[in-house]
Amino acid sequence: MPQTPNSLHARDIEYTIHPYTNLRAHEEQGPLVITRGDGVYVFDDEGKSYIEGMAGLWCTSLGFSEKRLAEAARKQMEVLPYSQIFSHRSHEPVIELAERVVSMAPASIAKAFFVNSGSEAIDTAIKLIWYYQNGRGKPNKKRIIGRRRAYHGITIAAGHLTGLPYARTGFDLPMSDRFFHVTPPSLYSEGNPGETEEQFTDRLATELDTLIITLGPDTVAAFFAEPVMGAGGVIVPPLSYFPKIQAVLRKHDVLMVSDEVICGFGRTGNWWGAETMGIEPDLMTIAKQLSSAYLPIAGVLMSQSFYEGLADQSAAIGNLGTGYTYSGHPVAAAVALETLRIYDEDEILNHVREVSPHFKRRLDALGGHPLVGEARGVGLIGAVEIVKDKASKTHFDPAIKINAQVAAQAQAHGVILRPVPIDSVGICPPLIITRSEIDMMFDGLEKALDGVATSTL
Ligand code: PLP
Repeated sequence: MPQTPNSLHARDIEYTIHPYTNLRAHEEQGPLVITRGDGVYVFDDEGKSYIEGMAGLWCTSLGFSEKRLAEAARKQMEVLPYSQIFSHRSHEPVIELAERVVSMAPASIAKAFFVNSGSEAIDTAIKLIWYYQNGRGKPNKKRIIGRRRAYHGITIAAGHLTGLPYARTGFDLPMSDRFFHVTPPSLYSEGNPGETEEQFTDRLATELDTLIITLGPDTVAAFFAEPVMGAGGVIVPPLSYFPKIQAVLRKHDVLMVSDEVICGFGRTGNWWGAETMGIEPDLMTIAKQLSSAYLPIAGVLMSQSFYEGLADQSAAIGNLGTGYTYSGHPVAAAVALETLRIYDEDEILNHVREVSPHFKRRLDALGGHPLVGEARGVGLIGAVEIVKDKASKTHFDPAIKINAQVAAQAQAHGVILRPVPIDSVGICPPLIITRSEIDMMFDGLEKALDGVATSTL
């Protein structure tokens, strides 16, 4: 890319720091500048079009040109651009949104607390759980268990819970000994030779049970899990996994938190990943597709009995001392409400159920590619895991970043995908994607895999 002195590229390098980026490499390479979007497509500053096969960061469910969301934001800005919800204050968009989200949620959920990002939702859930346990007279019941490879965000508490070392390396984390991680439910990567799905999920439930007993059930507060792990490599658990895990949690009075930041709002073919995977959550964290990412908004949803504990504790202390300036921001809430109306009116869930079998067929077919060790997915989320040798599941030397090579070639073929651990490429298009666009997306990925196979095998 030519770097003329005042180009967007040059100015980006001069002034902008990018998350999850090698900053020195960026000085050489510069950005891919996206200038506009239309449906499932985005366009760069040279006019090249791409299918956004990752819906941005697993979030733009309604694509990139939903005029109703722009209109909802404009209208709300004209009426009431900002109002706060601290100290008994409220406004209509946040009231309507809380009611709507709770009415869509699993039966166990009764109340909503709004924040601005997935990480804030996770941090807030952790804080509320600690506050709740203090209120119940269980001040030692504070430990939190997650899974290796889980992604729950990067703020200090969320960063502890995330089970991917890259969220902690170099940041002096961990600084708390309250967080523990168990094995992720990937039979492909974690299964013993010859182990069946049932044996595998029994083993994982026993691992969790043993950890809780070793730590002391009176010290363990909650278990956090994405129904389908996203950024850790799109790990779809066997269906027997969560029911067994929940039986262990119930036995030890440990709360189940379903992190629905990616799975929520239709991604897996049901409104909630919890429904798809048989989870009965005490709390849920939501973000991303709540507003189709048109504005930042997220939330923590909770059961009535959890709420009762919080309410008692806030009465005892005199105040629930947590929240953000932009909690329940009226414009973000109005956009989220409009997003949920569009989901209903356009029957987005039916659409996902109609096109996802085709998505799965194309994904499964890639399982036969010489470079693909496993093709996995559910609904409209999937990944291919790249291996050097399929029989032994041997990976390539990490230094060659094989999955980044595939994603780069897919991008050259007009499809944006995302390298995710371990040596996998994630696929998570806008939910509005059509059957023919699914074909174009997989055609691009297939060409990329062929290209990389030619140069490496
Ligand atoms: N939880 C899950 C499951 C996520 O995938 C993410 C982000 O991708 C987060 C939490 C953190 O969200 P955010 O990036 O909005 O802080």
